[in-house]
Amino acid sequence: AAAIRAIEEGFTKYTAVDGTAELKRAIIDKLHRENALDYSVDQVLVSVGCKHSIYNLMQAVLNPGDEVVVPAPFWVSYPDMAKLAGAEATIIRTGAEQSFKISREQLRGAINERTRMVILNSPSNPTGAVYSREELTSLAAVLNDFPDLLIASDDIYEHVRFTGQPFVNILNVAPQLAERTVVLNGVSKSYAMTGWRIGYAAGPAHIIKAMTKVQSQSTSNPTSISQVAAAAALAGDPSFMHRQNEEFASRHLMVRDALRAMPGVECLGSDGTFYIFPNFQQAIDRLPGVDNDIELGEWLLEHAGCALVPGSAFGAPGYMRISFATSREVLTAAMERIRSALERAFAA
Ligand code: PLP
Repeated sequence: AAAIRAIEEGFTKYTAVDGTAELKRAIIDKLHRENALDYSVDQVLVSVGCKHSIYNLMQAVLNPGDEVVVPAPFWVSYPDMAKLAGAEATIIRTGAEQSFKISREQLRGAINERTRMVILNSPSNPTGAVYSREELTSLAAVLNDFPDLLIASDDIYEHVRFTGQPFVNILNVAPQLAERTVVLNGVSKSYAMTGWRIGYAAGPAHIIKAMTKVQSQSTSNPTSISQVAAAAALAGDPSFMHRQNEEFASRHLMVRDALRAMPGVECLGSDGTFYIFPNFQQAIDRLPGVDNDIELGEWLLEHAGCALVPGSAFGAPGYMRISFATSREVLTAAMERIRSALERAFAA
């Protein structure tokens, strides 16, 4: 309704490059109210989705030769965005045995004199892993020892969680890192507004200023109408999120249990997001003509009529990512098809 009103009132011209005053105020209020983080207007940049915010950040601060620490399994865009800025990703591998979360020792071991940035993403796409306060505190102890490192905290799945624990990010446990941390978020996931394309970054004014320059010479402002819609979302009643999470939590259990009952599949389960990241390695080992997760993706398309994203895309071969942001009927049918395709193949 807010967006329709904006169109009818002719709010369809350029806005300030870094976003409207109204939306920036709504973002500052949200960060204060929900995250206990305080920012001024020169510390916030509104962009065309959280993806754009992350891209602007990497373009603004990375140089050729720099390294970016990326815990795997990672959201597919981080390493490639680093590459586009001339930098390189240093991947920290984790598996289900460590709940897909990096340890302080692994973080310390990945940092060298070329490391410029560390990316944290909790809840995580693709694993659904959520770092606890204690785990973040232990990572912060390492980050404290490297004062030149920047930290990117991708909080886009902040509101999509099933554990009942309050959301925490690195700044909640280590406020002293604020002078070198950029918080990245947006309305895509929490408000189911993926197509509106509004994300934002909040951080030190000098970094936000540099990111604004990048944006100014590429896209300029995000769509004026979408900014009005995003401000209405952030300022509106968030109670629907509770129902939304209950639904995701119940679909998650349904999909997790169905996967655990399949031959050749192991599944840890998620604490948040609408993804689950089962291990199909045993199935890959047993299926004739299938040698890796990419070939398994093709095999499942052909034999089960289901599209799963191979774990290799996320730096985790042998796993597959499933999204449960679809109806229970579709999910039930999909789980049944995958199970029966595997059982048929193993019986043959
Ligand atoms: N960060 C993560 C971890 C994501 O999974 C996504 C979307 O898939 C994004 C950022 C980008 O979000 P947006 O749609 O706001 O650009």
